Amino acid sequence: MIEIDNVSKVFGAGAAAFTALDRVSVTIAENEFFTLLGPSGCGKTTLLRLIAGFEPPTEGRIRLAGEDITALPPNRRPVNTVFQNYALFPHMTVARNIGFGLEMLGKPAAEIAATVDEMLKMVRMEALKGRRISEISGGQQQRVALARALAPHPRVLLLDEPLSALDLKLRKEMQIELKRLQGETGITFIFVTHDQEEALTMSDRVAVMEKGRILQIGTPRDIYNRPTSRFVADFIGDTNFLPGVAAAEGVRLGTGEVVRTATAGRSGAVTLAVRPEQVRLAAPDAAGALRATVTDLVYFGTDTHCHMALADGTPIVARLQSLPSGEVPAARGDAVGVTFAPDAVQILEA
Ligand code: ATP
Repeated sequence: MIEIDNVSKVFGAGAAAFTALDRVSVTIAENEFFTLLGPSGCGKTTLLRLIAGFEPPTEGRIRLAGEDITALPPNRRPVNTVFQNYALFPHMTVARNIGFGLEMLGKPAAEIAATVDEMLKMVRMEALKGRRISEISGGQQQRVALARALAPHPRVLLLDEPLSALDLKLRKEMQIELKRLQGETGITFIFVTHDQEEALTMSDRVAVMEKGRILQIGTPRDIYNRPTSRFVADFIGDTNFLPGVAAAEGVRLGTGEVVRTATAGRSGAVTLAVRPEQVRLAAPDAAGALRATVTDLVYFGTDTHCHMALADGTPIVARLQSLPSGEVPAARGDAVGVTFAPDAVQILEA
């Protein structure tokens, strides 16, 4: 549906030039929930603005359903945007806000009324149709903003951190709601967020960005379980990083112990990445276990984080699922063994 082909965006010129996007290429499928994820300033919003047509790229092409739209103005693109601040008209009613874009397009009143009703139903706001925006809650405003953006039946909906103003509970509700809306409408959603949980729970695929580049594109499971760089492993979820040296039989840690895992021909300094929920406790003398000492236990309700130090002081955390009895299989100061499945380990750059 959307093809971003080697797109760069440079703001300013000469010594003040700043590259916000650096040769970005990505193809987004029809009916896909695609998320751009990355820290503040990595270029997510800039890429969205280029797709919407609010800014021209410095280099590269953008195609929609095979047609080159790089030079098309925003209003000629079948693309609509939901902004972070909603940008609704506070003194107008909910219904008028939703129909406003259609009014501007000169659609007949009967058609506008029918579409507004359809959209109100879709976002479950029929009862508040006649209220002014200033008389509804933040979560309800979010629904109106969505309905307004969907009303002209765009082929692509761009969403720029649309849930960031909502409190946690409402945000989780709206995550499910957005996913439902995307499924029901079949519209391609391109969603921008810096919240990794939001990206993992809602997306078909995620592109992780850093400093104007896409580092990795994949399904949430790919990105979480098979990060290809330290940045991605670190940005998404919690990860233990263990420095070591790749050898034929596995990776030799600073303690002299060897983690047996496929090194895929790597040599020299590497970093092992292993998620805390993949780390298991074993007896201190268990065969193949790394030796560690428990330094701290932090209770989180669903699980307990067991902080440990390997023999050379390298920290490692295991996430232990809570037992009904409330018992934890270790105490501070205990000598323990640490194991993880060979395929739970990723070998990354040092
Ligand atoms: P956030 O999550 O904070 O919104 P972002 O990833 O969306 O961040 P962008 O808004 O795309 O980041 O900005 C990327 C970089 O480009 C930033 O360093 C920003 O300062 C810069 N930038 C954006 N717009 C302009 C502009 N019009 N002129 C100069 N620099 C800009």
